[in-house]
Amino acid sequence: MISDDLAPDDLFSCQHCGDCCKGYGGTYLTEAEIDRIRRYLGMKRERFMREACQMSGGKPLIAQAENGYCILWDQQCTIHSVKPQMCRRWPFIESILVDAGNWRVMAAACPGMRVDVSDYQILNCVQKILT
Ligand code: SF4
Ligand code: SF4
Repeated sequence: MISDDLAPDDLFSCQHCGDCCKGYGGTYLTEAEIDRIRRYLGMKRERFMREACQMSGGKPLIAQAENGYCILWDQQCTIHSVKPQMCRRWPFIESILVDAGNWRVMAAACPGMRVDVSDYQILNCVQKILT
């Protein structure tokens, strides 16, 4: 039997398939993240905003390339050490605390997420990461 005190690392282990970096992900960026990423890439803010971002509802998010992937994806995340919080936290996100079923929905598109666990174990792990 799997322990109720499952660690987040036991619940999720990235398989580096890149599927979560494909499609319209809505990866929003804070001003601090924009600054950190554009410095890492050696780009001025104006160029970074023009070439790597798009606006949605007045907020900047990472643009999607023609191949459907995040524009900062190239066989792997090219900004791994400075990637935004939304990518860093995946799949431990707030919406799972609202409904643990969201974990199972997300897992259908992410092979790194275990589903042979209880809702309690899922919520417990997500809370450990988010609080
Ligand atoms: S879809 Fe899941 S397993 Fe694949 S790269 Fe993204 S987080 Fe990792
Ligand atoms: S920033 Fe990196 S981890 Fe986030 S969607 Fe783009 S390629 Fe994927």
